[in-house]
Amino acid sequence: MPTPSNRLRSVPRSATYAVLDLVRTLRSQGHDVVDLGGGEPDFDTPRHISDEAVAAIRGGLTHYTPSRGLPELLEAVSEKLAKDNDVLVDPATDIVVTPSAKHALFVSLLAVLDPGDEVVVPTPSWVSYAAMAGMLGARPSFVELDSHSGFRLTRAALDRALTPRTKAVLVNTPNNPTGRVLDHDELSALVSFAVDNDLFVVSDEIYEKIRYVDRRHVSPAALPGGAVRTLTVNGFSKAHAMTGWRLGYVAGPTEVIGELLKAQQHTVGCAGSFVQRGGVAALTGSPGPVETMVAEYTARRDLLVSRLSQLPGVGCAAPEGALYVFPDITGVGLGDSAAFTTWLLERAQVAVTPGSAFGPGGEGHVRLSFANSLPVLDEALDRIERALHASR
Ligand code: PLP
Repeated sequence: MPTPSNRLRSVPRSATYAVLDLVRTLRSQGHDVVDLGGGEPDFDTPRHISDEAVAAIRGGLTHYTPSRGLPELLEAVSEKLAKDNDVLVDPATDIVVTPSAKHALFVSLLAVLDPGDEVVVPTPSWVSYAAMAGMLGARPSFVELDSHSGFRLTRAALDRALTPRTKAVLVNTPNNPTGRVLDHDELSALVSFAVDNDLFVVSDEIYEKIRYVDRRHVSPAALPGGAVRTLTVNGFSKAHAMTGWRLGYVAGPTEVIGELLKAQQHTVGCAGSFVQRGGVAALTGSPGPVETMVAEYTARRDLLVSRLSQLPGVGCAAPEGALYVFPDITGVGLGDSAAFTTWLLERAQVAVTPGSAFGPGGEGHVRLSFANSLPVLDEALDRIERALHASR
């Protein structure tokens, strides 16, 4: 029997999909599980976006588009980057529209890493970065951030992760799972680290619009020395509740985007044609629906933080952005994050993601997603509270 590639066999399955699969199995067995595992907005995609895509289908936009993307979407992305991010790119040469931000990240890493290269990844971090690097034969070099300092990113920590094989640094702000929104000083330190060592920056800005602090979102590509080395990745899943549409994009220096385009041409070809028309509506339409969703996320975040902080042994900082709280559960005394996650599922029928899935610095925490309605969150918290009290 032939065996699958070693490259893939050494890559772990996605921890967040594992939680999702387990919840599905338990529900099919009749268990009433509250799922706070995934980062899937529970809102419907705003109507003006869906209407535009449906009209595009009915109008016959059902064929391949240019591999880079529909010209009107490339134009809308470049205008958005200039307006929101102070990032100036040529829509004809410096952007590729991809089927999801996930795919944009994968082809970005493919465009900058060779086998054996290293990419610096501050952690805790999203579960897929290390797996993507592994699939490319490259390695993540983790920079463990300290929860006691609020997961602050420092130049000294980045310097410690540098080796002769370092080729790139990956940054995600607002951050999944910690909720940190990196400030101007932290991102300046990151970009000057990249400039001093001639590295690429891959910047995952998928949660850009989901922030609860006044601090402005800073794009590394807008900082001195950033534009020539930064691939800015963003998408539509989170801000516009468009997870199932699979739409994202990457923008960066012309030469790198030209290389990356080859990966797009030879793999997926292009993002969905009518889906891209939905993307144009999302970027050019009223910001009202996004603002309404963020206001609702704020109320949910406040509820979770206040109720979790009252639980014995739990410490919960308020996230500054994204869709997750990442409480410290070391004081609960029910084992490590994986053990606590299993315990919660068995005793409270609440699914969360263990912090250990997010790399060094994640242990001792669990991630709860508030891409769920207030009644669902209240129910989850009632169950957790009851289970913890019963265990005392
Ligand atoms: N980056 C981060 C940090 C995420 O949390 C996610 C989704 O969970 C993605 C990227 C992927 O987004 P998309 O749905 O566009 O692939």
